[in-house]
Amino acid sequence: MSHGASDQAALGSGEQAPQAESETGFRCHICQEPSEEICKRCTRDACPNHLCEKCKRCSDCCECG
Ligand SMILES: [Zn+2]
Ligand SMILES: [Zn+2]
Ligand SMILES: [Zn+2]
Repeated sequence: MSHGASDQAALGSGEQAPQAESETGFRCHICQEPSEEICKRCTRDACPNHLCEKCKRCSDCCECG
């Protein structure tokens, strides 16, 4: 039996990538909270609180009621 002990130890690169700030400059135009989506109508940034899940419009444009 050939005992080829060629263990390729996983490189212990314990370097954790620096956590990038989640604030990418996009902020809700209504409350200035960080936002990740834009209104489908006016294309302004809108936070989840001000973005309708149904029509994907901001509170200013939403007509869902
Ligand atoms: Zn908002
Ligand atoms: Zn809008
Ligand atoms: Zn809506």
